[in-house]
Amino acid sequence: MNFCSSCGEKVSLMIPEGDNRQRYVCQSCQTIHYENPKIVTGCIAQWQDRILLCKRAIEPRYGLWTLPAGFMENEETNLEGAARETREEANAEVENMQLFCVFSIAHINQVYTMYLGDLVGGEASPGEESLDVVLLKEEEIPWDNIAFHVITETLKRYYQDQKRGEFKTHYGDIFRQEDGSYIVNYF
Ligand SMILES: [Zn+2]
Repeated sequence: MNFCSSCGEKVSLMIPEGDNRQRYVCQSCQTIHYENPKIVTGCIAQWQDRILLCKRAIEPRYGLWTLPAGFMENEETNLEGAARETREEANAEVENMQLFCVFSIAHINQVYTMYLGDLVGGEASPGEESLDVVLLKEEEIPWDNIAFHVITETLKRYYQDQKRGEFKTHYGDIFRQEDGSYIVNYF
């Protein structure tokens, strides 16, 4: 950040009085520009023994597969955001939604909240951000072409719970290691 979004003057990186970490502070209007993690919210939409996957039409990870998910908007709830993303990316409606996974991904300053829901009517088609939208059985999941590790992790927990016959809510921290692989601590 170089300039103040309130007054347009230059900002400085400094620890404000009473704080314990560096912030961008405007030297003109004194506004402290706090930066905090962003929340991504999305959905596993189930239809019979299939789930909905979207092929990304946008960067990053263009052409790879993902669950419908995106950044929460202001003035919507977390669950509304998951339903909206599913509508935007797959022209699909979901009902009976329950919270399924919450992942903290500290190295990219994001929290993922993934819901589980039923795809209404089994109907879906590509939205603007999707090249393709498909309903897949477990054996058809393209595990080697999933866009983000957090999505792979969500899908693994889904099929694990399905085999156990009970869906619970999973909470985990995802860490990226130096070799590029990931570890997930569940608690
Ligand atoms: Zn300012």
